[in-house]
Amino acid sequence: MSRRKGASKGRRPAATSRPAAPGPAPLAPGAPCPCGLARYEDCCGRFHRGAAAPASAEELMRSRYAAFAVRDAAYLRRTWHPGTRPARLDLAGPSRWTGLEILATTGGSAFHSEGTVTFRAHWTDGDGRFGTQEERSRFVRVDGAWVYLDGAVA
Ligand SMILES: [Zn+2]
Repeated sequence: MSRRKGASKGRRPAATSRPAAPGPAPLAPGAPCPCGLARYEDCCGRFHRGAAAPASAEELMRSRYAAFAVRDAAYLRRTWHPGTRPARLDLAGPSRWTGLEILATTGGSAFHSEGTVTFRAHWTDGDGRFGTQEERSRFVRVDGAWVYLDGAVA
């Protein structure tokens, strides 16, 4: 997921005059992970806090989705390939990520050095508008660690 404003299949959040949402939004202890797999601290939270590293491209994809959801820009930057990492990352905005579906993967395991993950992310803007964004993301290893290279809107 490279940016919040990819082409959406549904209605996009309209340009808003509301103030931007505040920065990092920590989850309560025991809260479910935004990626939907497990408790946040046992799931993507351990990657966000640096206690573990994703072992597969899909784990990295999930953790990056969760980082968008909790607005962890630092994590997104450090899991972005240095060649494609944006100079500035603005996570503020009216929409909220509400769910993730992994649609397909290629490569990306412990035995690969690259992989792709195709996913559908759901958003809402809190004003009754909602939609999805689909992307096929490419991941590679840099010094053994999975990083996000780029993505194409599916
Ligand atoms: Zn997770």
